[in-house]
Amino acid sequence: MSKFYHIILTHSAGSIPTYKLCRSASSITCVVIERVTMSAKLLEGKPIAEKIKEEIRKEIKTLGRKPVLATIQVGENPQSTIYLKSQKKRAQELDIELQEHILLDSIAESELINYIRKLNQDKNVTGILLQLPLPSQINSKNIPIHIDPLKDVEGMHPENVGQAIFGKMRIGSCTALAVMELINATGVDLYGKEAVIVGHSEIVGKPVSLLLLDKLATTTTCHIATGQRGYLPTHVKRAEILVVAVGKPGIIHGEWVKEGAIVIDVGINRVNDKIVGDVEFEKAYERASYITPVPGGVGPVTTIMLMRNLVESAKLQR
Ligand code: NAP
Repeated sequence: MSKFYHIILTHSAGSIPTYKLCRSASSITCVVIERVTMSAKLLEGKPIAEKIKEEIRKEIKTLGRKPVLATIQVGENPQSTIYLKSQKKRAQELDIELQEHILLDSIAESELINYIRKLNQDKNVTGILLQLPLPSQINSKNIPIHIDPLKDVEGMHPENVGQAIFGKMRIGSCTALAVMELINATGVDLYGKEAVIVGHSEIVGKPVSLLLLDKLATTTTCHIATGQRGYLPTHVKRAEILVVAVGKPGIIHGEWVKEGAIVIDVGINRVNDKIVGDVEFEKAYERASYITPVPGGVGPVTTIMLMRNLVESAKLQR
């Protein structure tokens, strides 16, 4: 006659895979005959953002003046308009003054730089946010260096990027900081963890890689060449922490996700009038320990991190 035992073999952040073991009365040989997997915990951004908002509210009271955020939008762009709408809402909630600067679509790169320089000198302005994308005549990579590093609320000035390399980030990429807040909310210890970042943009992939490295995670950054050589599944399959920021729906197949992985899906894609991420959500949900929804995961935390950067800017200018 055989007896059945349930034992816990592994326990990684929220998922407890359960193995059913069979033991014969006459032998001590144990065989794994069944595996039952728990679904992931949904890592929603709103509660995390709310908590940070309350901390920011308290900090603003200590500043002695209302922070002023100057946003620059060049021409009409639906993506920027949506982002601006959520920033306005956040600013209102926190009693932050938001100045909207809308410039002509035809503006030359040099004119935009001059405009930014004027805002740098304006003592009333605490932080400057340049909405992307920019029209084709402007190379967006040329602009961050012209924003006063103390007013650079997106953390894209080389001086601020450099601080991150030395592990002394003052103002950092809002999305990268949001990714770190979400990972921290799981309670995971990053020390020595296999972290795979898919996407190496200046605004997401690279700063996330740096921040994870700073926590002594073992980081691998994947990009277009990784995808083209067919190595994406190999890297994703061993990721204990997986951050995806590509902008291609379903580029990460659910079955590639390691059991118990923490999955942060930064991607925002519109498919048949629905917003989806870069990860095949349903299948990944079955395997991950935590996974961010799209929408409702990284987005709400990103907008609040912008306001936290603004407060940091105000403190640095005191
Ligand atoms: P991006 O500048 O276009 O960068 C995309 C990255 O993906 C690039 O590094 C690119 O590599 C890489 N890539 C493209 N195809 C690949 C493939 N087949 N395999 C592996 N890597 C590949 O975009 P981003 O600004 O980082 O944004 C990425 C996504 O996140 C977008 O959907 C965006 O809307 C979203 N986003 C969300 C938030 C938020 O708050 N939720 C904030 C920012 C961005 P190469 O450069 O080498 O081609």
